[in-house]
Amino acid sequence: MPADSPVMAQYQRIKASYPDALLLFRMGDFYETFYEDAQTASSVLGIALTSRQKARDGEAIPLAGIPWRTLDSYLARLLRAGYKVAVCDQVSDPRAARGLVEREVVEVVTAGTAVAEGLVPERRSNYLAAVHARGERVGLAFADLAGGELWLGECGPADLEAEWLRYAPSEALEAEPGEPALDRLRELGLDFARTARPAAGFDPARGRELLRARAPSAAPGFEDLPAALAALAALEAYAAELRKAAALALDEPRRFEPREALLLDAAARRNLELFETTAGLAEGSLLQHLDHTVTAAGARHLRGMLERPLCRPAAIRDRQAVLEALLTEPSKLRALRAELAPVPDLERLLGRLGAGRSSPRDLGRVREALRRMPAVRAAAEAAPSALGLLLAAALAAPPGLTELLDRSLEDDLPLVPGDAPLIRAGWDAEVDRLRDLARGGKEWLVSFEAREREATGIAGLKAGYHQVFGYYLEVGRRELDKVPEHYVRRQTLAAAERFVTEELKEREREILTAEEALTRREQQLYEELRRGVQERAAELLRAARALGELDALASLAQVSMERGYARPEVDEGLVLEFTDLRHPVLEAAMPPGQFVPNDVRADPADAQILLVTGPNMAGKSTYLRSVGQAVVMAQAGCFVPARAARVGAADRIFTRMGASDDITRGASTFWVEMREVSALLAEATPRSLLLLDEVGRGTSTYDGMSLAWALLEHLHEAPRLRARTLFATHYHELTDLAEALPRLRNLHCLVREWQGGVTFLRRIVPGAASRSYGIEVARLAGVSEPVLRRAKELLVLLERRSASLGLLGEPVQLTLFDARRHDRAVLEALESMDVDRMTPLEALARLHELRQMLLDESREGGG
Ligand code: ADP
Ligand code: MG
Repeated sequence: MPADSPVMAQYQRIKASYPDALLLFRMGDFYETFYEDAQTASSVLGIALTSRQKARDGEAIPLAGIPWRTLDSYLARLLRAGYKVAVCDQVSDPRAARGLVEREVVEVVTAGTAVAEGLVPERRSNYLAAVHARGERVGLAFADLAGGELWLGECGPADLEAEWLRYAPSEALEAEPGEPALDRLRELGLDFARTARPAAGFDPARGRELLRARAPSAAPGFEDLPAALAALAALEAYAAELRKAAALALDEPRRFEPREALLLDAAARRNLELFETTAGLAEGSLLQHLDHTVTAAGARHLRGMLERPLCRPAAIRDRQAVLEALLTEPSKLRALRAELAPVPDLERLLGRLGAGRSSPRDLGRVREALRRMPAVRAAAEAAPSALGLLLAAALAAPPGLTELLDRSLEDDLPLVPGDAPLIRAGWDAEVDRLRDLARGGKEWLVSFEAREREATGIAGLKAGYHQVFGYYLEVGRRELDKVPEHYVRRQTLAAAERFVTEELKEREREILTAEEALTRREQQLYEELRRGVQERAAELLRAARALGELDALASLAQVSMERGYARPEVDEGLVLEFTDLRHPVLEAAMPPGQFVPNDVRADPADAQILLVTGPNMAGKSTYLRSVGQAVVMAQAGCFVPARAARVGAADRIFTRMGASDDITRGASTFWVEMREVSALLAEATPRSLLLLDEVGRGTSTYDGMSLAWALLEHLHEAPRLRARTLFATHYHELTDLAEALPRLRNLHCLVREWQGGVTFLRRIVPGAASRSYGIEVARLAGVSEPVLRRAKELLVLLERRSASLGLLGEPVQLTLFDARRHDRAVLEALESMDVDRMTPLEALARLHELRQMLLDESREGGG
């Protein structure tokens, strides 16, 4: 096949239409790649690179192929490596075609539009996003084509990151020449493929038109979102181009409001270890702890519940009621989960159906899901609650559909029509007739063989079939003399000759066409059934969603029951109260009874700020994290690891925890820390929950402590904030603040001192820690005795000195840090700063300057 052969010309023509995609070109049983694509495929997929054909000019054409049946597993690897792949199939029957087989691209697969099993993760949704900024509003459309899910909404730039993270799309569409909002997300270290689309496609009018046509009753609810409608228009055009528009049209679009779900930015997600641990593992995350789902759909819904915890107490209570009904009757919970477990993934099956990527076997699995629905429904209704009954009611198969599929389809279905019987006997007269003919043909061949053997007396005569030559009669060399006149020679083998007769040729035509006609007829009926299911997709999808949601709720009920969690009282108030709160994940990882429960009570009215002091390893961070996780759990509708709880629903959780350097983004620990502080100062509301762990640790003691101090004052005084705050610190000097700030409460970690050593009790109790146990912690950690002795001497000295200075009270405030003479300039600069009028960033810049002054001076002093 030279480079200028007709098939290569066809290849070049098709490739020219998909210059940015890797082209998989179907040739017989293989998808071939050529030229650079072959080099790419070979290195990404680890398949052999060959060049068996020479072009006319002597150049070798690089070539690498994959067997067509294994397409999906190879596709998955190409997508993961970031490639866009065009799949080009043979669209005319190669046996019927004269000359060149017709080929065309039947699917273009990208990270965000993949739907096939194996291409998308099973237990989480795979979103394609479109982003369109109009002024200060960022319009967003997120679609999960594999599950027929569509979300539309707008948000301000400040909320973009948090909204984006809930969906974490794998591909994003942007208007040419590029969307700055996406640049910002990239700068935050988020990873997704970017696909530029013509700017004219981001058209709100077109988006509105689409919605009105597809979801007339829902459309008015999106009128005020022009930026999101523009994004939708672009999304739809892209999906249509990739022939997946039907999947997009499956469900009624859902509207998301940035303030409707608990806002969790990247820091909160990471610090609270919601979806992965700070070490980046799923194992040990809150999600994994809560995930006892028995289906993949359930796992996806559960994840969605944690991605979008609710803020409306009434909606939260609806979920709680489902849990309550289930876990008070464990046998019913068990029964429901047992019924759910074997139900096929209806959501994904419908998504694939809509995207034209489904097989007869998938249709069989839809049928299986429908068959199992009544039992799930009955099990759900056995433990009734308002929301539970609503979900159960959605588990209704469209009338007649189950029976239709039951009577029409075989039990075991092939992946491809023609590979095995597909249509049940008795369903279609034409199928029955053709099948008889095809089967009779084989039987006939056997009897024909026997008949001819007798007629000719050729004992070794055999009838058979050959791919190219068709049906034949084979006679061994020794018996060739007995072959009658009317046998026509067709093929010569080493030890035998093969013949045909008129009768055989006649039958061959009938038999061959019967099999083909049967496959065609089955294919046709299958398409009809497929369309029938697709026409009811909207209804079916409601059932599919209900299945996922029930499984997710049953999973929460299961953990709550197993671990003895309590139903929190969730309300519109601002009180946060836990009796005997535990850290859900740590508790589960420890032997029973080992984890020490602690109480929490925060209330902006009188205990707005909880200042938790204690040495390292005393349990401060764990305490803060357990509060954050419990609030997320409560607002997701789950019970909480406490004996009793009251949660005034939060609008947002801010965290500042850990001190891990973000080297990948080139940001220093302290810089990251201050970015998080500046975000919370700008964005927090009185409904927010602030979890601040060791603020100021990333810099030197004095400026770290000053910052922490100023921050606490500000949180206490600024009326716009007054947010519930848990503040952990090992600077026990900060406890003096309680005298000046009436809504600040001191808590400290109990430590037992014994024979000059300490044991951590992990009990957190009211009051201020009396001293720093740092040195004892150092002893526990094995620091040698001389160092410890010297440290103790120094501690006594330093404590005496700071006692003489005093930490509060008018005149000494400025000499707080026993300034060196040349540091006075810095202190004076500090004093003259009008902190209340500064933006956090200005403050940060000033802080860096001040610190630089100090550093410069000390260098002078030292040198
Ligand atoms: P800190 O932040 O005060 O340095 P951590 O919260 O990191 O301390 O806790 C240190 C370790 O102590 C944790 O890794 C955990 O194993 C254990 N721990 C913390 N809190 C408890 C508790 N309430 N019960 C039992 N063990 C705890
Ligand atoms: Mg800590």
